[in-house]
Amino acid sequence: MFRTIKLKLPYDRTLIETARQFKEATQIVLNYGFENKTFNKNKLNKGTYKTVRETIPTLPSALVQTARDMASESLKRTKLERKIRKKSLTVRYDKRTFRFYPDSHTASLTTVQGRLVYPVAHSPLIDKYRGEYTNAQLVIDEKKNRIFIMVQVNLPDKEVMKKEDVKVLGMDRGVKNIAVLSNNMFFNSKHLREVKGRYQYLKRRLQHLGTRSAKRKLRNISGRERRFVRDINHTISKNIVSLPYDVFALEALNPAYMKQNGQYKAIRKNLGSWSPAELQRFIEYKAEDLGKSVLYIDPKYTSQKCSKCGYVNKDNRHGSIFKCKNCGFELNADLNASRNIEVLGKSEYFRLMSTSQSLRFNESPLTGGGENSNKLRSFSEE
Ligand SMILES: [Zn+2]
Repeated sequence: MFRTIKLKLPYDRTLIETARQFKEATQIVLNYGFENKTFNKNKLNKGTYKTVRETIPTLPSALVQTARDMASESLKRTKLERKIRKKSLTVRYDKRTFRFYPDSHTASLTTVQGRLVYPVAHSPLIDKYRGEYTNAQLVIDEKKNRIFIMVQVNLPDKEVMKKEDVKVLGMDRGVKNIAVLSNNMFFNSKHLREVKGRYQYLKRRLQHLGTRSAKRKLRNISGRERRFVRDINHTISKNIVSLPYDVFALEALNPAYMKQNGQYKAIRKNLGSWSPAELQRFIEYKAEDLGKSVLYIDPKYTSQKCSKCGYVNKDNRHGSIFKCKNCGFELNADLNASRNIEVLGKSEYFRLMSTSQSLRFNESPLTGGGENSNKLRSFSEE
């Protein structure tokens, strides 16, 4: 069984340059193959080797070969029916061009500067998935200044994670409690509400004054408030993802539904400029950095269902208290919801695992398909 682990590398110029040259080499082969109607590797090699070596002399020949192989596969997949443009900055690595050392958390990679050793950021998945490191894909995200290496691990059969070993944490979101976790942790919005109240008072006073200096102060205050809210989201997300869990299950935010239900209004009224979407983004990328997964489940019934007996009834909920009409089980309503989210998250995780996660990494090297492999998505959200 194959698993892909996503590891962060330093944002390094040499790696970026390697990816740029790799992209250029791939594009030359893609163009040649399309024009000459061939995806045969030998023909592509004969037709492009000289051009590639002359235009990109610093790209090591092993990477020239890999670029050609990748181009050949893409040409074959699209049946030479359309022109292909390699968009993403990715490099495919194999046994000749890459090695991963799990004990020292380093990877050695063939680059335009020769073979170099890079430190990889710590991830719990390094120890969890040990096996044969067959190949890898380097992914450069220039927008966010981040570089990842997706390492494919061939696991010995007995070491495949068993269902009961995967730790899933459910998270419910709301206004009074920004986050309630299925391990009984609460992040309430008290501090946020208090500070927001202070800012609101100040803002109203300045708006009333209306002078030029008041307007300037108002702008400063708004900036400060945004930073304050962002800091809160940074802290909460960091606290959550560093808990000892592999998968974080959240309800998919449904903007249309939230609007209809007055949830946005409630958030604006009580929490000012705080946004659940920002918190979610932070959780996603911080979890990714740790090699953990975030997935989304359908929020239907999570607040009406009894987490003990499974009975669903909308009268089970009385404000902040959940009381089951069937078995009498009583619990904080948000906590009850987060436990339901955990259970749904767990089954969703295994459904996704058994389908296409590692295949995606293999199948679409040109579109950077591996990029999201730790960000599991069952259906669309905001
Ligand atoms: Zn019950």
